[in-house]
Amino acid sequence: MPTANVTTVNFHLVKHCPMACNFCYARFEDVIRDTKVSKLGLPTEKARTVVTELAALGFKKINFAGGEPLLRKDLPELIRYAKSLGLVTSIITNGQLITADWIKSVYGHLDQIGISVDSALPERRAQMGRAINGKPLTNEDYLDRATLIRLAHISLKINSVVTAQNFDEDMNGFIRQLAPQRWKVFQALQIDGQNNLDAAFLRCPDQAFDLFKRTHAGLSAQGIRAVFEGNDDMTASYAMVDPFGRFYDNIEGAYRYSQPIWKVGGTTALSQVVVDAGKFIARGGEYKV
Ligand code: SF4
Repeated sequence: MPTANVTTVNFHLVKHCPMACNFCYARFEDVIRDTKVSKLGLPTEKARTVVTELAALGFKKINFAGGEPLLRKDLPELIRYAKSLGLVTSIITNGQLITADWIKSVYGHLDQIGISVDSALPERRAQMGRAINGKPLTNEDYLDRATLIRLAHISLKINSVVTAQNFDEDMNGFIRQLAPQRWKVFQALQIDGQNNLDAAFLRCPDQAFDLFKRTHAGLSAQGIRAVFEGNDDMTASYAMVDPFGRFYDNIEGAYRYSQPIWKVGGTTALSQVVVDAGKFIARGGEYKV
């Protein structure tokens, strides 16, 4: 009977996102088209069932993602529920809706907040689509949110994607100001049916990703753990659940989905996808928040 062979699972609760990042590989248009689930994902009870099953499978950490997970009003409830099951809790957000009130609603229940930002330059963020109706958050917006998170003693992670548009950037100063515990840097990944990096001239060649990596090689010595994930590291090394409550993998260059966890149970659904525990460990997936 399959149980979790990695410690962390990413539950992409929501399809909807007000940003329009041109490299986004979590668009899930296919999920909405094929399952007719709401763009905000499953009703609360079914989402709770998925969380219950994930905990029963033996995952230790749950990372609520999207789309934009804060669009769900019940996200604090789901975080509190996951915490009550003994899970380490985390979210990945575009940062727009992070406020002092929202953080207060999860205080003591949320262990980590990851904010996605790919450039220190607002105009470049706008070019990359990391913007709402063409308007990016300001650097001060991001710094304010980082401060709120620190004040709440929640671990801060920053996620950045490297494409042909930002591979030559120096983000050292901005990342030092944000001062996350962990900076996760991804080489833009082509996922058929989700994005088309070639058509948009966004593909980041290995050498360009390596240049970005070398530009930021000094950060770890300054107390910011920088983790760089190339395309191979990102393939089959994540346990992922879509907005319809199905596991999915990316081993064939497009997403392959299991049956819904809330319908067939976690064990059966997990047996229908591939997660490579060796690659999870190799990319540093297991770490203390
Ligand atoms: S913020 Fe995240 S989910 Fe939204 S478009 Fe950008 S990459 Fe996709």
